[in-house]
Amino acid sequence: MHLCPVCKSRTNPNKAHIKIQYKHDIYYPCCPLCQAVFEKEPEKYIKNLSEHKK
Ligand SMILES: [Zn+2]
Repeated sequence: MHLCPVCKSRTNPNKAHIKIQYKHDIYYPCCPLCQAVFEKEPEKYIKNLSEHKK
């Protein structure tokens, strides 16, 4: 399972809204809204996501 980088909901890569490749990693925003937010400040959400995994 992957997490939406913005709202942290679980996303299924096979059914993801879209995948975004950013700096060698692939992210799966759950919806167009999260995609837009993520693309606006990707660094911020990538950082949050890695902290969430700890
Ligand atoms: Zn989301």
